[in-house]
Amino acid sequence: MQLRKDKWSYDHEKDSPRAMESIPYSLYYGTFVDTPELGEIRIRTKCLIGVNQQGVIDFIHPDVEQPSVLEVFKHNYVHFDSVQSYFNQFFFPGFIDTHIHASQYPNVGIGLNIPLLDWLKIYTFSLENSFNKENFKVAKDIYTKVIKKTLTNGTTCASYFTTIDTDTSKLFGDLLLEFGQRGFVGKVCMNHNTDYPEYQETEAESLNSIKHLIEYFDGKNPEPETLVKPIITPRFAPVCTRSLLKKLGQVSTENNLPIQTHISENKGEIQLVKKLFPECQNYASVYDDHNLLSSSTILAHAIHLSDSECKLIKKKSCSISHCPTSNTFIASGEAPVKQYLYKHKINVSLGTDISGGFDPSILGIVRQSILVSHHLSMKTNNNSDKLSLNDALYMSTQAGAIAVGMESEIGTFDIGKKFDSQLIDLGGMSSSIDLFDWQLPNKSDDQDELQSKILNLLNKWVFSGDDRNCLKVYVNGRLVLDKSNQWVLVN
Ligand SMILES: [Zn+2]
Repeated sequence: MQLRKDKWSYDHEKDSPRAMESIPYSLYYGTFVDTPELGEIRIRTKCLIGVNQQGVIDFIHPDVEQPSVLEVFKHNYVHFDSVQSYFNQFFFPGFIDTHIHASQYPNVGIGLNIPLLDWLKIYTFSLENSFNKENFKVAKDIYTKVIKKTLTNGTTCASYFTTIDTDTSKLFGDLLLEFGQRGFVGKVCMNHNTDYPEYQETEAESLNSIKHLIEYFDGKNPEPETLVKPIITPRFAPVCTRSLLKKLGQVSTENNLPIQTHISENKGEIQLVKKLFPECQNYASVYDDHNLLSSSTILAHAIHLSDSECKLIKKKSCSISHCPTSNTFIASGEAPVKQYLYKHKINVSLGTDISGGFDPSILGIVRQSILVSHHLSMKTNNNSDKLSLNDALYMSTQAGAIAVGMESEIGTFDIGKKFDSQLIDLGGMSSSIDLFDWQLPNKSDDQDELQSKILNLLNKWVFSGDDRNCLKVYVNGRLVLDKSNQWVLVN
């Protein structure tokens, strides 16, 4: 008799892609926590949720003493997930990582405190340049590991950067479908890399590559879903010519595709942009002047924005991806996120920024976003710079959904939305969290006591939890990762 690891619940080498599996009508019962509005936490206990064969939430009945047998038979369900110890366990929307470089995963943890532009030259460009047809096996290994790692941490949707290479970008999209993670594939576009000329493409190569990827992924998604979608990805202004930037803006408009890029991560970078684009008013204007700012644009980092840039970003309804771990690791700065959210009313989501950031877990990024905001508030002596837990959890889910243009489809538990979810277990054998009897809700608690205890448990999850507390992961109603049977006895 031996123990074997079985958390992936299917053999991805042999089985058909996870994303192609049919979805059984499913019922879920327990506590559901989400953040429908900035600053708000919604807790629904004893809640029964039905998810149909398209992976869409069909009904939500809170305060059901026990799942109604009638409901079960009415829908002829196939799958039923009841959270038995529902006060230790709760469903939370899947995390949305709005800025992550899949190709940089091997560099995680490397390059402490080297400023951005040097860090790119020394570590990043050479690694990204190794992604090509000849190196397919290595690319597959890296891309498989990063998808598994993010899924393990409860990330159900991510906006990825790959590299300039077309073939391995296609491979990456295929792997997303294989593992069933929702993802945006950002083939990197750059035709002006003076610091590392070996790693760049011509404008024509860049545009052809995008065209090819659009066609490729058009036919790949399971109907009627769009789990995998290309995203137009000018790396950042300094490595793109004016002409390429303009054409990428056109491709986005013509094909209704979102855009992602970097902005104002580092002061040296801002000076470089000023020098390269003297005709533009500021960094944000460089993108605006080339038709790259719209409601489907994600601007990563955005640490050192001027007031007029904030106004422009708000006017264009762009989203920011805040990457606090990366910003701290390579000492880029502290983004005044609370001001962006509440003063400028800009949508701010969260990104791991692997590998500028070392933590692939959005839960970890939630924690870091709060701590960085506390540091900022100590510096500015302004308490209103502090993010709340509610703010940060909103950024990790619903704000991410807005950033990727899917706010009516994912991000919260609402009727009509896709069931992208994680089941959190605070009490399991391997949990890093110790719980005490008086902290747990019990049957005699009134609604207020119940809500306040669950809020405290949420705090414990955010500040003491990790991937071991993420028991199951669902994307589009499919169970794509099940760690509840991680160790099974086999003869
Ligand atoms: Zn980045």
